[in-house]
Amino acid sequence: MNDEQEQAILAVHVRGLDGMCAGCRAWWSRLTPYPCWQVDWATSRQARTITARVLDGVR
Ligand SMILES: [Zn+2]
Repeated sequence: MNDEQEQAILAVHVRGLDGMCAGCRAWWSRLTPYPCWQVDWATSRQARTITARVLDGVR
């Protein structure tokens, strides 16, 4: 996995209006509370590879 794939995950797995992950529902018809494990995975990887300043821009 590279940074582009992590950013793609974060772009798809966004918080829905009901607090569930919109990406998990759209891709797998699965109701998962946001943040789902894929968001946790991508953000934890990003935290190790990019600066905190950039991460703040995502949030
Ligand atoms: Zn998700």
